[in-house]
Amino acid sequence: MYQAFLLKYAEIGIKGKNRYKFENALCEQIRRKLDKIDGEFQVIREQGRIFVEAQGDFDYEEAIQEMGMVFGVSGISPVEVIEDKSWENLAAAVGDFVEHQYDSQDFTFKVKCRRSDKHYPMTSPEVCMELGGYLLERFADLSVDVHDPEVVIWIEVRDKAYVYSKVYPGACGMPLGTNGKAMLLLSGGIDSPVAGYMIAKRGVFIDAVYFHAPPYTSERAKQKVVDLAKLIARYTGPIRLHVVNFTDIQLYIYEQCPHEELTIIMRRYMMRIAETLAEQNNCLGLITGESIGQVASQTMHSLAATNDVCHLPVYRPLIGFDKQDIVNISEKIGTFETSIQPFEDCCTIFVAKHPVTRPEVQRIRQSEKNLEEKIDEMVQTALDTIEVIEVDS
Ligand code: ATP
Ligand code: MG
Repeated sequence: MYQAFLLKYAEIGIKGKNRYKFENALCEQIRRKLDKIDGEFQVIREQGRIFVEAQGDFDYEEAIQEMGMVFGVSGISPVEVIEDKSWENLAAAVGDFVEHQYDSQDFTFKVKCRRSDKHYPMTSPEVCMELGGYLLERFADLSVDVHDPEVVIWIEVRDKAYVYSKVYPGACGMPLGTNGKAMLLLSGGIDSPVAGYMIAKRGVFIDAVYFHAPPYTSERAKQKVVDLAKLIARYTGPIRLHVVNFTDIQLYIYEQCPHEELTIIMRRYMMRIAETLAEQNNCLGLITGESIGQVASQTMHSLAATNDVCHLPVYRPLIGFDKQDIVNISEKIGTFETSIQPFEDCCTIFVAKHPVTRPEVQRIRQSEKNLEEKIDEMVQTALDTIEVIEVDS
């Protein structure tokens, strides 16, 4: 039905001299997506737009869906290519397009034209006016509304002519690979997959780390994290998921430290290990799904106490979000159903009845002194026994 798609992008348009880098990264990500589906696609960069020409049999819905998950794309329009752009042929082809696209032609419309072929014998306003007239004559039910039309019929006159009228929303954001890499602390909850998605949306590649505490956390809980990584990989691209065995460290903290401080101390060790992994993997920051006040470990005091051990920037894109806002995004990106499966994560096993909500950094540091004897060795063992899972959608 369609031989091509026209993709529009928003923010890249303002990148000045570096614009080509963003456009190249965008084309690469579109190709990577389309490689996964049947059909032959050619991705062509042309004056502020990207054309995807399709050949052979392909699943039209699937192509739109896949391209809709490429960060940097703001809209996707299926376009009909008009090889012979002479006026008579152009008008007839646009008329056929309107006839096939819509069951009835009972709507208001206007024509918009962009002409990059400056040798074309008609100017853009002329094309709009003449085509408007032609369509009105051919379809009795059509009427023009230049201010608030129900349908905009777009014509692009280039080496060939193109017509389209539907725009499917893109994922927006910036193309992956234009902004380095970060390490996501990925749990099985609702928040961290959303946090990873949001940072990736700004062009950042993602690696991930999951702290696993067998037998207190089950294989199913780990599988759930792998499943979540797979779901966000549709947007973020392949993810190297590092599974850290955290059991001994957790038990040791449990033995040696005041119970109301368990969560904070445990989180400090998660951050330390994640940071080491980040440095080993050329990541420029950490990402968590924390949001102020959501739980005891996310009060301003607790966040400060956790952050105390970090040297790399910690990105917390959900910091000012209400839970419902986060849920809305997780539903939109398709992680919600998996996130709410009831498998315990390691934080829920060792939680104290009354965790501190206003931990003092000095006191926490003092409590950690109780760990001095064995903790370095345990952290080293945890790092040495990491399981790396290459996750792709
Ligand atoms: P989430 O819904 O992302 O699990 P949460 O509301 O349950 O978050 P916490 O359990 O306090 O909050 O975790 C805060 C953040 O710490 C998470 O968003 C995640 O980035 C990280 N985190 C928590 N547990 C783990 C884990 N087992 N492995 C890796 N990261 C974790
Ligand atoms: Mg959690």
